[in-house]
Amino acid sequence: MNSTINFLDKSCFIIAGPCSAESREQVLQTAEQISASKKVHAFRAGVWKPRTRPGGFEGMGIQALPWLQEVQETYKLPVIIEIAQPEHIEAALKHNINFFWIGARTTANPFSVQELAEALQGVDCKVMIKNPIHPDLQLWIGAIERVLNSGVQQVAAIHRGFHTSAKNTFRNTPLWQIPIELKVNFPDMPIICDPSHISGRRDLVFDIAQNALDMGMNGLMIETHINPNEALSDKAQQITPFELNELLNHLQVKEKSTANPAFNQQLNTIRNNIDKIDAEIINLVKERLHLIENIATEKQKNNITAFQLDRWMHILKTRTDWATEQNLTKDFAEKLFQLIHEESIRTQIELMKAVPSIK
Ligand code: PEP
Ligand code: MN
Repeated sequence: MNSTINFLDKSCFIIAGPCSAESREQVLQTAEQISASKKVHAFRAGVWKPRTRPGGFEGMGIQALPWLQEVQETYKLPVIIEIAQPEHIEAALKHNINFFWIGARTTANPFSVQELAEALQGVDCKVMIKNPIHPDLQLWIGAIERVLNSGVQQVAAIHRGFHTSAKNTFRNTPLWQIPIELKVNFPDMPIICDPSHISGRRDLVFDIAQNALDMGMNGLMIETHINPNEALSDKAQQITPFELNELLNHLQVKEKSTANPAFNQQLNTIRNNIDKIDAEIINLVKERLHLIENIATEKQKNNITAFQLDRWMHILKTRTDWATEQNLTKDFAEKLFQLIHEESIRTQIELMKAVPSIK
């Protein structure tokens, strides 16, 4: 069984630094200001940048490594960089850099992850694995397993949001349920959040960062640039070291639990009531499905389709109206009834197979 060591020895591990290393001055000035805050535990910078189309800024490559080595030595901040090919690992190690992240595009490709995992065998290093671009938990788990199988034990995950077709304010939708499921699969492995790539906009970074800590994440990776408006990549989402300091000062790091007996008793009482309500919900859904069984029999006897568009539109309209009257969101009511309706239709189709029709 593979195991991970929680190497993030802080209750909230903070990684900050620019999207890309652009010049020696940019890297060193950013690191100087970031380290002055004493709240940052590692310095990030992209050396090789995965660009969607050729011709964009592809990173400074190998020449950036001595600058980052200088950061590490001058400010005593461990440096973390993105690796996408075995040669990146080899070059980084020559500059005493042994803290790596695997980017979202690489995680999505098992061939690339396997190549990296093989190159990491026997290397004393720490590796963080970003989620794949698309909301595919198994692909994320697979990449983590490949790295663990190579013998690296200091492994963590980075939640950077997901590409979805839904239009919303995020560059990458958080879909918090996916990192929660990852935690269920790897309870001991730390997960940190990258609010910069989730938001794509600097004004949203704080809220997402706080949200992540409230979700129990173990730290944050925040893109920070000495002069964000002039950044060669991801300029809209980077913040200055001053803004980073403000953000970190305002973040609330919460505890997972407390010994306070009054609170624990109150929590138990409320949870008992919630348990009762959930049991009632299950009973109601069961009763609803029982009615569905009757409908299925009648529809089959009368040669009527299981799915009825008019009825579905009516359900969706009325239920979302009822929900919004009760101050529940339309989006939640839609998702809830889509799920219930899908199960109803599935049940009806199953039952119809067993009932002879009139034809
Ligand atoms: C980055 O961290 O700059 C980066 C390219 O991230 P991602 O792989 O999450 O897009
Ligand atoms: Mn970036």
